[in-house]
Amino acid sequence: MSDLLTIEGLGVRFGGVTALEGVDLAVPPGEIRALVGPNGAGKSTLVNSVTGYQPQHRGRVSLAGKRLSGLPPHRIARLGVARTFQTPELFSRLTVAQNVAVADFAAGGRRGPALLRRLGLEAIADSPAADISYGQMRLLEMARALALGPRLLLLDEPAAGLTAEEVEDLVALLRRLAGEERLTILLIEHNMAMVAAVADRVTVLDYGSVLVEGPPDAVLSDPRVIAAYLGEDEDEDGNDGGAGDA
Ligand code: ADP
Ligand code: MG
Repeated sequence: MSDLLTIEGLGVRFGGVTALEGVDLAVPPGEIRALVGPNGAGKSTLVNSVTGYQPQHRGRVSLAGKRLSGLPPHRIARLGVARTFQTPELFSRLTVAQNVAVADFAAGGRRGPALLRRLGLEAIADSPAADISYGQMRLLEMARALALGPRLLLLDEPAAGLTAEEVEDLVALLRRLAGEERLTILLIEHNMAMVAAVADRVTVLDYGSVLVEGPPDAVLSDPRVIAAYLGEDEDEDGNDGGAGDA
């Protein structure tokens, strides 16, 4: 009961394709957990299941003991679960500040301006979201998720498209959120240097099941993990075209 996020025996199918099978995952409050694995392993599907975007055929997901399975996305969000998408989903005709304000207003309107500052978006606050860089879109999506004041934040490849400096800032921000505010974070990420720098623990998915779990240094050097990645092609930029993300 001390875990914030508990996933037990999660199974998800797309017709004949088994995307997840028998996945158990437990994340205590304030932990940054990285979820890694080859393209098609089921990472985005897991995030989609936790947030109610993808129905599950088996198992149970709960937040601090409260069952999330079967609830629609807006109810899961209201219980304190926020997310970003693998491809940013923003109101492209609204400004950066307006995008954050929409989420902030929905949550009572206390966090907006501070979040713009915190994510380094102040200078572009009045730019339409359609005109900012891809890396800035990812940060804006995160500001919007944080405006909801979540207990659990799920991030699908937040570092994709960010510069090295932006990645460093993101690592510092996530560590601060987990450390000072006890935010619990589940992070899908292909950038292994970032995973090593930010994660308390790492869970590796392969073919829809948990392959290995443990501290970053042990997991990232585990022969089973290396072997799982060897089957992958060189296209490691995170654009795995995972259906269901759009
Ligand atoms: P990852 O995020 O780890 O790259 P995904 O969760 O996107 O993997 O996909 C896991 C598996 O489920 C893959 O085999 C993928 O093709 C399949 N899949 C994902 N979404 C859909 C969908 N909407 N319809 C059919 N198959 C899907
Ligand atoms: Mg994915």
